[in-house]
Amino acid sequence: MLRISVTDRCNLRCGYCMPAGGVTFQSKDELLTPKDLARISGFAHRLGVRHFKITGGEPTVRGDLVEIIQRIRAIGPSDLSMTSNGLQMPRLAGALKEAGIDRVTLSVDSLRPDRYRDITGGGRFDLFERGLEATAEAFGTVKLNVVVMRGVNDDEVSDFAGLARDRDWTVRFIEFMPLGSSVLADGEADRYLVTADEVTSSIEAVHGPLEPVEASADPGVGPARLLEMPGGRGRIGLIHAMSRPFCETCNRLRLTSSGVLRSCLFDGGEVDLMPILRKESADSEDAGDRSLLDAFARCTAMKPEVHAARGGRAMSSIGG
Ligand code: SAM
Ligand code: SF4
Repeated sequence: MLRISVTDRCNLRCGYCMPAGGVTFQSKDELLTPKDLARISGFAHRLGVRHFKITGGEPTVRGDLVEIIQRIRAIGPSDLSMTSNGLQMPRLAGALKEAGIDRVTLSVDSLRPDRYRDITGGGRFDLFERGLEATAEAFGTVKLNVVVMRGVNDDEVSDFAGLARDRDWTVRFIEFMPLGSSVLADGEADRYLVTADEVTSSIEAVHGPLEPVEASADPGVGPARLLEMPGGRGRIGLIHAMSRPFCETCNRLRLTSSGVLRSCLFDGGEVDLMPILRKESADSEDAGDRSLLDAFARCTAMKPEVHAARGGRAMSSIGG
């Protein structure tokens, strides 16, 4: 699976994601173009990568997003999905579906408008709700990503789980990861971590025992452990990256919006593809292929056995 960040910009400022000291965004000429993105994705597809995820920053702030999706769809992936904060989905959901997106995950960490605004640095929950409605309508279903943080939103876990009881949606609870210099990734970041086991207990205390589901029942569920409530319509996903790292089964590579191929969300090592792409216009495509093959092989070899406790790069620049 290749996760492709198409921008480091965002229309929100979630405290666990954006760097604390303000952000210096990449300039437009440092960004991969739709053609670059198609070249790298097409090469990855030839190497056997079949699942592609579009992410950011916030992918919908890129004006040429529909063209990017069309170009990647044309490569023939078996699964093309996107993660978004949803605010632009009333305008874009239909066009993205038509361009070839199979599934959308929306991120939301509170169902209470005041708290949603505080967590996202000013976001409007009513706009999120409209985006959610538009996404569910265009795609038939939706996945929700919820980062659970102690003392911030852990009292809403069972409310979120209730959405997966009443609707055919997947609600995925993500363990908080201390990455980069985000506001919450300070020296005491560990205090925010609510483990997947704690999340399971909170849900079971309100909704009753959860039962495991075959991951194949839910395409693109990724590294999440999947559960369901007896009699519920949807599914609960648990992403236990901190309490039980799943590095030995991780097959992900990540591409940043400036063309850096990363072996791991944490600090596994990375290879810059931009010099290869820029040199390619002078060289033959064969020479470019050889350089890309070498870059993908080096990056894959750098995947760590187990990730570190902290990561150096902010999530907003890697894309989750
Ligand atoms: N802007 C889009 C969104 O919010 O869905 C896509 C990019 S965002 C970086 C991808 C996912 O990473 C989101 O679900 C977000 O909640 C999650 N995320 C960001 N920072 C995180 C952190 N420190 N720990 C765990 N998850 C994080
Ligand atoms: Fe933006 Fe997504 Fe990061 Fe929030 S989590 S600041 S919406 S990129």
